[in-house]
Amino acid sequence: MDATKELQVLAHVQAVSLHFLAWRGELSSLVTLICFSMKPEAPPPSEIERFLRRESTMEILAQRYEVALWRDTRKQYHLVSLTVPNDIAKVRRRLNEKPASCSQCSWCWQDAGKLADIELIPERSLDGNIVPSRYLHPQCQRPWLQMRAMLAREGESKGTSKNLDVPADR
Ligand SMILES: [Zn+2]
Repeated sequence: MDATKELQVLAHVQAVSLHFLAWRGELSSLVTLICFSMKPEAPPPSEIERFLRRESTMEILAQRYEVALWRDTRKQYHLVSLTVPNDIAKVRRRLNEKPASCSQCSWCWQDAGKLADIELIPERSLDGNIVPSRYLHPQCQRPWLQMRAMLAREGESKGTSKNLDVPADR
């Protein structure tokens, strides 16, 4: 694949991530989705697969396309959009939503099940304390912290120190 084709594939990986928001499965299934998105422009599936397996591709996706792609301990692939909503009301809602289980990531809501201890990390508050019942994939931490920063700025501009409506049970 030449550089132009690689850029096309990256753009379609981003489009697929925005469509599904949080996807998990075999790499071959992801390649099928990308081929479907690219239609006749798609390079051979084996080339897409080889390209997506590369560590450097995953880094470019995270840094320039707001997309996290990684392989977990069960050898399944995760494709998660890291795009933060630009509406402060949506940001507030997302920060207040809490997954039903502690084995779910607070950003992508995927359930790590029994592997939660290995795959998720606890959220930490600004003073470094662990936030109860809040866990994140390391890959999902950046958008979460961006949302927290957005809400904190919003709080400052309104002159209030109360940034989060924390439910009484936490
Ligand atoms: Zn996640």
